[in-house]
Amino acid sequence: MKYIDEFRDGKTASRLARRIREAVQPGQRYHLMEFCGGHTHAIYRYGVQDLLPDEVRMIHGPGCPVCVLPIGRLDMALALAARPDVILCSYGDMLRVPGSGGKSLLKARGQGSDIRMVYSAADALELARQQPDREVVFFAIGFETTTPPTAVAIRTAFAEGLANFSVLCNHVLTPAAVVNILDSPEAREVGNVPIDGFLGPAHVSIVIGTEAYERFAQGYHKPVVISGFEPLDVMQSILMLVEQINDGRAEVENQYIRAVTRRGNVKAQQIVAEVFETRSEFEWRGLGVVPDSALQIREKFAAFDAERRFPLLYVSVADNRACACGSILRGVAEPTDCKLFARTCTPESPMGSCMVSSEGACAAYYQYGRFRNLATLAKA
Ligand code: SF4
Repeated sequence: MKYIDEFRDGKTASRLARRIREAVQPGQRYHLMEFCGGHTHAIYRYGVQDLLPDEVRMIHGPGCPVCVLPIGRLDMALALAARPDVILCSYGDMLRVPGSGGKSLLKARGQGSDIRMVYSAADALELARQQPDREVVFFAIGFETTTPPTAVAIRTAFAEGLANFSVLCNHVLTPAAVVNILDSPEAREVGNVPIDGFLGPAHVSIVIGTEAYERFAQGYHKPVVISGFEPLDVMQSILMLVEQINDGRAEVENQYIRAVTRRGNVKAQQIVAEVFETRSEFEWRGLGVVPDSALQIREKFAAFDAERRFPLLYVSVADNRACACGSILRGVAEPTDCKLFARTCTPESPMGSCMVSSEGACAAYYQYGRFRNLATLAKA
């Protein structure tokens, strides 16, 4: 297939749905976690869930970078933005996430803080060049997909001797989160997460390769299929997972062969390793403190580390008790389990990060819960 429409074809979706139904074995459960918020949105945007038999249940994972950032890290960005000498640069999605006491970067901007929305670390770097008298701080979030551009920006600032650029680093690691979900006593206490297989992320895997998942596929005997983001990608990946479970296999398979290799993007991995090192621990919303699950800036580039450059203190802050984002990110609740969903909490007035982010599960349920979709096309 060459064109995007071919990956969204209703008739092919219908055929794949029939193959999944035929493959499902009576009495067998197929609880499949789609790690990535991009997959959650594809599933609801195109009605994939409605095409699946009852035995196959999709569980939403923590692969939404905006959603998993804990309030305490957002509060650090708010503290930076309150400084008159600082221009804080942030991705747009972060601006509306509620921090402590209902504050947000958007509200702080309304109260006079200099907060700019950027599309990349390179935008923030360019702003630092244009504003040599101001401190420009890039509020860096994201999984392995967005880490290489942040690393390149820091390397470039180092090479240019840029004295007014720094990064508040919140980059996190996918494999550590998956292992935590499978392993964490905390997650098990909160609710047993019955996961029989994983739909692996697409863009992250372009960078880290399929190799990165092999240890937990083998160690935990959980099959993984790296999947593209189009609806037929997702359905083919679900079929591959069902077949692995039927066969008793726990392998890493690659459905997204048009972009992902076993080794990944080695050049990007080298640049990331040059600039960053693993943090011993990092708090995630929903997962709690996860060892070796995030990155920090190496000593060589300490001048560009906002956490060393400014007097910042991380304080862990409890989530809004009425918001179920934490449970949703652990895969033990769905957005519709939350009493605030579509009532008090909407994309226009979000109470939690899962409703703000374009990759959040609550936003997916809200946005696509009431539209004509692939399921209706395929069943027509
Ligand atoms: S609907 Fe809103 S309040 Fe409820 S879990 Fe989602 S983001 Fe949190």
